[in-house]
Amino acid sequence: MSRVINDTIAAIATASGIGGIGIVRISGPSAKNIGALITGTELENRHAHFSPFKDKENQSIDEGIALYFQQPASFTGEDVVELQGHGGPMALDLLLQEVLSLGARMARPGEFSERSFLNGKIDLVQAEAIADIIESHSEAALRSSLKSLSGEFSKKINTLVDNVTQLRIYVEAAIDFPEEEIDFVSDKFISNSLHSILIEVEEIFQQAKSGAVLNQGLNVAIIGKPNAGKSSLLNALAADDIAIVNEQAGTTRDIIKQNIILDNVPLTIIDTAGLRQSTDSIEQEGIKRIQKVAESADIILYLRDVVDNGEQFHQQQLEALASKHQIPINENTLKLVINNKIDLIDKQPSVKNSEGLKIISLSAKNKLGLELLSESIKSHYGINNNENSFTARRRHLNQLEKALESLKQGQAQLIYQQAGELLAEDLRNAQNALGEITGRVSSDDLLGEIFSSFCIGK
Ligand code: GDP
Repeated sequence: MSRVINDTIAAIATASGIGGIGIVRISGPSAKNIGALITGTELENRHAHFSPFKDKENQSIDEGIALYFQQPASFTGEDVVELQGHGGPMALDLLLQEVLSLGARMARPGEFSERSFLNGKIDLVQAEAIADIIESHSEAALRSSLKSLSGEFSKKINTLVDNVTQLRIYVEAAIDFPEEEIDFVSDKFISNSLHSILIEVEEIFQQAKSGAVLNQGLNVAIIGKPNAGKSSLLNALAADDIAIVNEQAGTTRDIIKQNIILDNVPLTIIDTAGLRQSTDSIEQEGIKRIQKVAESADIILYLRDVVDNGEQFHQQQLEALASKHQIPINENTLKLVINNKIDLIDKQPSVKNSEGLKIISLSAKNKLGLELLSESIKSHYGINNNENSFTARRRHLNQLEKALESLKQGQAQLIYQQAGELLAEDLRNAQNALGEITGRVSSDDLLGEIFSSFCIGK
């Protein structure tokens, strides 16, 4: 995986603004020399040198600590120097300009991590986890990103790739050496391995799904008739008066978006204008926007006023409502019905399952039963507080989905067509899809593996 990179890159590694310490990071073959010129000191590997930082005219720019990490034992796998000075924009900028004038070039975004990947220090999942750690908005997201960085997710993917590879080697050998007469259908090794690989991929897919939720959050659309309490619920969840609450129907005219973290899950909550049929062109426009929001939402909260509408609610009612307002409710969308205003009928918060629908009774105004909502969301997405997930991205889910599809297709080829060649092709696709997650698999790798484990001259 290592590749020769000839240039030296530099950037300010700390956040912009004012801080106690600011760091200019340099990576590449000239890093050590640039560090030595600025500090006037021969930098020793893994030593903290306290030193003035000076320019070519011997004028002081700043003073601080210089650290040198000799390649390959550095983050990027190259020579790395860190100049830790004072965290003011002017001091850091002057220091960076000096470093650039000594032969480094400005690093592109993510280029240190990219070099780390190219030099085989981390894989793609770990590189992505670094970005996720930096962007974490909740403790759970941070912890799951740390797990990914430590290689837990990669390890699972690598094991899967190994298992698929082994199976593919076996199948390919059976095709190439027909005198061995492996019967594809009755050979239990093939069907059993395929079966257990499928189960593993499913399992990891589920875990990755909850990791992706913690990482990227969910879009939640609140829909319901005017006055049902949508704004009140949004306010209660956001613990902040952001939508206008009013007793007159139709106050919430526009779509209001609010990002909140609900029990560690980042949610973008979209409060929609009240659902009703209207000839008013502005309102019609509002309804069109609801339709769009509902279509892309991960979760739809259908809010009802329990006083006006009673506690019972049926799947058909939701379907009728959706079709009346032409709301395309996606099959994969989690649909939660909220019976609001239970304080007015003297009921306690509760969750009921009715014909595949989850009905949560709560009071938005009195903030009663809100935890039932967060628990329902977390249980649906397999998020528990024992932190069993690792951070994941849409990219990983797509690759896992692709692998699942290929494996299922391979299984069908085996059972219905008894077609070894087609199964081998599906395994190859699954292997590539999984390998792309960590950036590990290339066809050269695979050929090497096949040739090294089989005696081709047999
Ligand atoms: P929206 O039109 O769906 O956004 O509804 P609002 O949030 O503006 O609420 C309409 C009215 O119902 C307001 O007077 C709220 O105070 C009231 N309301 C909302 N939720 C509750 C609740 O749980 N209990 C009671 N008693 N009143 C509520």
